[in-house]
Amino acid sequence: MSDFSKLAINQFTTLHQWSLPQAIEGYARHGVHAIGIVRDKLHEVGVAAARQSLRDHQMKVTSHCVGGLLTDSDPQRFQANLQDTRRAIDEAAELGAECLVFVAGGLPEGSKDLPAARVRCLEGLADVLPYAAQAGVTLALEPLHPMICAFRSCLSTLSQANDWIEELDAGPELGIVVDVYHVWWDPNLEHELQRAAGRIVSFHVCDWLMNTTDLRLDRGMMGDGVIDIGRIRRLVEATGYAGYREVEIFSERNWWQRDPDEVVSITKARYLSDVLGQP
Ligand code: ZN
Repeated sequence: MSDFSKLAINQFTTLHQWSLPQAIEGYARHGVHAIGIVRDKLHEVGVAAARQSLRDHQMKVTSHCVGGLLTDSDPQRFQANLQDTRRAIDEAAELGAECLVFVAGGLPEGSKDLPAARVRCLEGLADVLPYAAQAGVTLALEPLHPMICAFRSCLSTLSQANDWIEELDAGPELGIVVDVYHVWWDPNLEHELQRAAGRIVSFHVCDWLMNTTDLRLDRGMMGDGVIDIGRIRRLVEATGYAGYREVEIFSERNWWQRDPDEVVSITKARYLSDVLGQP
């Protein structure tokens, strides 16, 4: 049985090939009816046109990507990023997205003060959470692999995301994204997933290539790398998560160069074999 009812494709997977309306039409044509949206792509067409296109193709929005980057030590830039995150929350609400993916931000230029960056991010989060709650939008903390801590995310582990959620004492407006690319190596994965039970709002899949050439932009298609994706999926779903499995592949040297219809076809096949584990 080929069941794609819980397959979502994040637009990053066909970033260079398709605009937002093309991705919505293309995924739907392949029988995939859930999409993760990239903000830059949304801004090219505007929210109204995007909503029309989503309606026309019965497409659900799983995630809106991304808000956050709240680590800047310059007060004006920090405020500008807070304001931009509020705009992203508004967009997520208008799109009916299940969550707005929250990426923490790395070290400010010239700084070595990682603890201070983390404190600023937490303060920023505390600032925008009531706005998200008001809008009915869930901010989804995505811990990113520690190798990209310097330039992208001072939130590096699931353990840290669980700690932040406890510290902020937030309601359902704060959740967690589990992305296999970022957490697969963690020796405490099973324990931290259990701790995150009830807070997981999004699950991202791709693969880690043994000979990766870029830590952010050289992700692999499921099955081409070293992650036991089926195992992590089972652990995530054992916590009670019953949502979409969202394929998200950043791939400058391979998948962004391919025919997008071929990318979607292979995505579907690998979803069955390497995410669901069907023979
Ligand atoms: Zn992700």
